[in-house]
Amino acid sequence: MILVLRKDATSEQIKKLKEKITGLGFKIHESTGEERTILGIIGGNVNILQELGIETYPGVEKVIRVLKPYKLVSRDFHPENTVIEINGVRVGGNNFTVIAGPCSVESEEQIIEVAKAVKKAGAHMLRGGAFKPRTSPYSFRGLEKEGIRLLLTAKKETGLPIVTELMDPRDIDLFEEMDVIQIGTRNMQNYRLLTEVGKLNKPVILKRGYAATIEEWLLAAEYIASEGNNKIILCERGVRTFETATRNTMDISAIPLVKELSHLPVIADPSHGTGRWDLVEPMALASLSAGADGLIIEVHNNPFEALSDGPQSLKPKKFGKLMEKIKQLAPLLGKEI
Ligand code: PEP
Ligand code: MN
Repeated sequence: MILVLRKDATSEQIKKLKEKITGLGFKIHESTGEERTILGIIGGNVNILQELGIETYPGVEKVIRVLKPYKLVSRDFHPENTVIEINGVRVGGNNFTVIAGPCSVESEEQIIEVAKAVKKAGAHMLRGGAFKPRTSPYSFRGLEKEGIRLLLTAKKETGLPIVTELMDPRDIDLFEEMDVIQIGTRNMQNYRLLTEVGKLNKPVILKRGYAATIEEWLLAAEYIASEGNNKIILCERGVRTFETATRNTMDISAIPLVKELSHLPVIADPSHGTGRWDLVEPMALASLSAGADGLIIEVHNNPFEALSDGPQSLKPKKFGKLMEKIKQLAPLLGKEI
């Protein structure tokens, strides 16, 4: 349930209302906009509040029942766009944020070379997997702890904030100096993992599960938000369909739809969305046009030798050309880069 407060509601009226609601055992999520304050009420049976006639209390303008199963991440609860600040980089609002780097961290030489190249091209953050979820247990599964160390070296070398995937809550301590935690497609419904990252004060990129509906995806985000962490960036990365010509089917329509349903920033991953380097640029530009708040793109200095996802990785030169196009297109769409 949402209480939209009157523009002239006094702080005393708001305080009394909040006391009444919390006294009945509900939790309040307060959203103070430029125009007015909204109180999102969660937990318990909200019928009690309706029976009490809460809409007649001083300071209340109207009461809205939220029928959607997700609450905190819904736009009903928080009409304004959420903007997340990551070491000077902003995600959401009118910002367009580009994250780039290799699928996996492979060596110091590789990660530093790619980090410098993507920085030069204008990327805002560096990606790189140290813990890799691989379909086959015999594939390269990442450098793990050593990979995290190399990412820190790249951060020191370039100043770029780091995005890297966490697969297991037992590894959380290793991620302290990482700037953004990625939850991968395979773990979107790993509820213990979602609960643990929800307890952190660290931005999270939540990738859409490859077989997840939009509602399931937003409910996964609600798991994180319900633990107190609102710094969630949603990432459309393609879903599995009958099509085999591409690795996944990039659901561009999910971008504007999720932005309508949620206040959270939505970025797109055209690398995993297609699995083909030649489709990355058109899908990146399509995502920007569809209203995405940013991109996460795989870039490798030597894609033919890459230990994971080489066929979908751009070479630094091609990434640089894509960045030039993004810089031209973004302002036409009201986005700053
Ligand atoms: C990745 O970013 O390299 C990755 C494994 O992504 P996803 O979880 O979307 O497959
Ligand atoms: Mn990858």
